Amino acid sequence: MSVLAVLEPREVPLGGTRAMLVRRTLPHRDLRTIGAWCFVDSYGPDAIGTGPGMQVPPHPHVGLQTVTWLLDGEVLHRDSLGSEALIRPGELNLMTAGHGIAHSEESPAGHGLSLQGVQLWVALPDAARAQAAHFEHHADLPVLDVGPARVTVLAGEVDGAVSPAATYSPLVGAEVALPARSTMTLPLRPDFEHGMLALDGEVSVAGTRLPLGALAQLGPGETSVEVATDATARVMLLGGEPFDEELVMWWNFVARDSDEIAAAREDWAAGRRFGEVLGYPGDPLRAPALPAVRLRPRGRSRR
Ligand code: MN
Repeated sequence: MSVLAVLEPREVPLGGTRAMLVRRTLPHRDLRTIGAWCFVDSYGPDAIGTGPGMQVPPHPHVGLQTVTWLLDGEVLHRDSLGSEALIRPGELNLMTAGHGIAHSEESPAGHGLSLQGVQLWVALPDAARAQAAHFEHHADLPVLDVGPARVTVLAGEVDGAVSPAATYSPLVGAEVALPARSTMTLPLRPDFEHGMLALDGEVSVAGTRLPLGALAQLGPGETSVEVATDATARVMLLGGEPFDEELVMWWNFVARDSDEIAAAREDWAAGRRFGEVLGYPGDPLRAPALPAVRLRPRGRSRR
């Protein structure tokens, strides 16, 4: 059991004029995906006090699923299907964009003082990406004890516990909460590649120290991984069958070529395809300008 690489996050402003800073770990210059997981942002703990907190205006997605998971606080999701869902720690918001959807995410009025969470994307395989959009809120996910740790299964399966979340390629996502001064061994599927993301506190994964927001990359063939910590900590397991389709990722779109990206951008600008998000107190986001050169599809790693 060994860590192939530690991917450090970079800080990125998120949302419109009232942007918050997030730690972006994927895509990384050395690695684009882990299984079908293609985007990993984590944030907080942020002291948001009585300020606006998270304010991400309506924006479109295609070709992916968004996964929202909180460690602290609450976020209100609205989308162009009319869904409105308040998410709290331990619950999962899963939006399958398919051919197109728009959504907003905001700290609701009267929100708590602190916000901490993670925003993940799962690339839809070619056979599933033309589907109509749908939204799921799961408040009752499987939780199991693995040694001293509590494991909540967001997607896929851990040790026989299966998440009800809809997935379209073989993958796993789970939060692992460790008590202080503990060591646990998490079972892994050897046909999957995996990453372990430090969500809260600092942990050691297979003997390698992992700072907040960093991701330990584990290759296929591993049957377990050891996680240890001095203080209470939480990590997220992300894994899946290596995703072999080449992707073009630009702004909020995951596609297969430059023309698909341009068409999605044009449809958003023209008010087509994505529908309207009602109730958000502000204007939708506008797409940035496309780069002058065609966007190139890219594989999993640059190596
Ligand atoms: Mn989004």
